[in-house]
Amino acid sequence: MSTNGKSYKIVIIGAGPAGYFTAQAFQKAQRSDLSFAIDMIERLPTPWGLVRSGVAPDHPKIKTVSKVFEKIAKEPNFRLFANVELGKDVSLKDLRNQYDVVVLATGTSRGRKLGIPGEELKNSLSAADFVPWYNAHPDFVDVEVDLSSDTAVVIGAGNVAMDVARILAIDPAELDPTDVAEHALVKLKQSNIRTVIICGRRGPEHAAFTAPELRDLAKLENTDVYIDSKQIEDAIKHIEEMDEVEKDLRNNIEAMKAIAGHEKKEVARKLEIKFLSTPIEIKGNGKVQEVVFQKNKVESGKVVPTNETFSIKTGLVVTAIGYDSVKHQGVTIKSGRIKNIAGHVEHNVYAVGWAKRGPTGVIGTNKSDSTDVVDLIIENLKEPKTSEGITALLKSGHEVIDQTAWEKINASEVISGEIAGKPRIKEVDWKQLICLGRS
Ligand code: NAP
Repeated sequence: MSTNGKSYKIVIIGAGPAGYFTAQAFQKAQRSDLSFAIDMIERLPTPWGLVRSGVAPDHPKIKTVSKVFEKIAKEPNFRLFANVELGKDVSLKDLRNQYDVVVLATGTSRGRKLGIPGEELKNSLSAADFVPWYNAHPDFVDVEVDLSSDTAVVIGAGNVAMDVARILAIDPAELDPTDVAEHALVKLKQSNIRTVIICGRRGPEHAAFTAPELRDLAKLENTDVYIDSKQIEDAIKHIEEMDEVEKDLRNNIEAMKAIAGHEKKEVARKLEIKFLSTPIEIKGNGKVQEVVFQKNKVESGKVVPTNETFSIKTGLVVTAIGYDSVKHQGVTIKSGRIKNIAGHVEHNVYAVGWAKRGPTGVIGTNKSDSTDVVDLIIENLKEPKTSEGITALLKSGHEVIDQTAWEKINASEVISGEIAGKPRIKEVDWKQLICLGRS
């Protein structure tokens, strides 16, 4: 392929971490004879994806990656088109025609279902709704969350389950200096929940938590964290029988052992992690009242069910068992993600991030992953198109939030936050966000 002095039009759909790292990979791949004009489309009037609406408010350090995103956005070959929805304001077909390359960085926003009786009861929520609710996502402001019971159950043994459990279990005053949604903070301050139980279906040795997040649990000031020492001892025995043990697993077990043995503060707020418990039914009269679990055991490294069941009385269940991609016209979803080979979807369409590989990995995982896809894209480039790009596609009068408008929204939120001693106060109203962008 000859790319002598060629400039290609790239459109990235989705302004989350995978989208930004893809833009960065294109920026880094530029040479004197190869350049890219990058347009990023985002459905919301705000960029940053999960860094804004997924990362827990009490984990501000993780959000500092937004500084990298803003640096990428300041490059002269980058344009932001937020408040533009794929399938509504622009079609994939049109984008494919107008651009040399279309990159889908649309994530996986649909929460997976347990598929058990009672899952549809009131106050049985998916983390896919609960997390954006407390993170001020405009679409989730009205999620009905009832925190009137004393106990909450969180299903899943991954970092999202841990985020959800922590937010429910900590003293809400600890969220005062954060960017948690104002409506959520009000509710959390009125919450009666004092016990939060995370339930994983397999053993501690199979948990999807990561060690830094587990270590953070031991540091909670107003919440005692419990893990059954016997479950950890058994897990250690199982690990000893393994031929090879990964460092991450050793670190996880160490962190869980420390939690199990940690001296308790004997405070009212409790967070428990229970393993080997598969939810089989959610019971309740119109609303969640109880979750029934089957007890499991580990036999020859495999998790098998026992005949024993137990139940937990609770008024709130949050399911955090992973996510699937939403459907887009012209794209096939397979196993919850966009069907692709190493990021290639078809013709000039590619996928990156969770849309490509499913909901795995931390934010930084997207950096190398996006670079690999961009390398493949560059290998596949043909002659650049002489088309107009997105401006040919949007209806006249469509209000785009561009980088300048976003910077106005950003500044306004940060200023409101400064007054209140918070990093920002997020605006949750879509129309108001657009107004802030105009100001
Ligand atoms: P995850 O890490 O894949 O964990 C999902 C959990 O759900 C697993 O424990 C899984 O158990 C369980 N599960 C799946 N289906 C189930 C079912 N039918 N019944 C009961 N349990 C079920 O997913 P995640 O927590 O959504 O996190 C997604 C990614 O984001 C992960 O890579 C995570 O590390 C990352 N993340 C990172 C941070 C951070 O760094 N602070 C914060 C949040 C998320 P099995 O293993 O038995 O399938």
